[in-house]
Amino acid sequence: MQPQPYFLIFASQMLKKIIIAIDGPAGSGKSTAAKNIAQKLGFTYLDTGAMYRAITFIALRNGIAENIPAVIEMARRIKLKLRFENGVTRVFVDDEEVTEQIRTSEVNGKVSDISRIPEVRAELVKIQKRMGEEGNIVAEGRDVTTVVFPKADLKIFLTASIDIRTKRRLKEFQDKNIPTTFEEVKANLEKRDRIDSGREISPLKKADDAIEFDNSALTPEQDYEFLHKKIDEILKDKKPS
Ligand code: C5P
Repeated sequence: MQPQPYFLIFASQMLKKIIIAIDGPAGSGKSTAAKNIAQKLGFTYLDTGAMYRAITFIALRNGIAENIPAVIEMARRIKLKLRFENGVTRVFVDDEEVTEQIRTSEVNGKVSDISRIPEVRAELVKIQKRMGEEGNIVAEGRDVTTVVFPKADLKIFLTASIDIRTKRRLKEFQDKNIPTTFEEVKANLEKRDRIDSGREISPLKKADDAIEFDNSALTPEQDYEFLHKKIDEILKDKKPS
């Protein structure tokens, strides 16, 4: 076989589509970290949780959240679109914007049940993999390092203590003037952790080759610094020497 000309090797490496996958429990700071990285690198940010939330919101609004076959049928039928603009993921269902509606406590309380339905997961994973094929992407969510992108170039499992995660989520609610308490938020996180980790299909768990990183004592900036260093290392490896 003829040796490949250098420029071809160079071009193929430069065109390599980088996938960074960030996993971890609710409130671990994965959204903030993933968004910061995507913005900095000019990558697409894929918020997989927003997709499960959108299905949940529509199921609740249509009064079908307890009717699994109807939820599956709806998940297969609707057109979901995510647009990452100025640090915010805008979510559209059949061209209707649902960005705000998918973040309510009603949706929080139901989303883990909906995301336990295998057919719903299959549908959303299919869309996520397709987005991954398109190019440089930072994907975030419960199963992105294990199921959606098991071959990602960098896999991070972010964690933090339950109290720290509760404080972070509580602040998000307070910033939006949504009334709630520390105990309520903590109970919701614990319930979601339990369902997400205990489910049979795509449970929340660290991939063997993911880098685990506990950021309980860190600010989002320090978090970002650590991740950025890791990303620099892998990007350096991808460039021809
Ligand atoms: O990340 P976020 O908190 O928005 O996710 C909401 C819920 O969606 C999670 O608690 C989980 O039940 C579900 N989810 C999932 N798989 C993903 C992303 C989210 O099951 N990849």
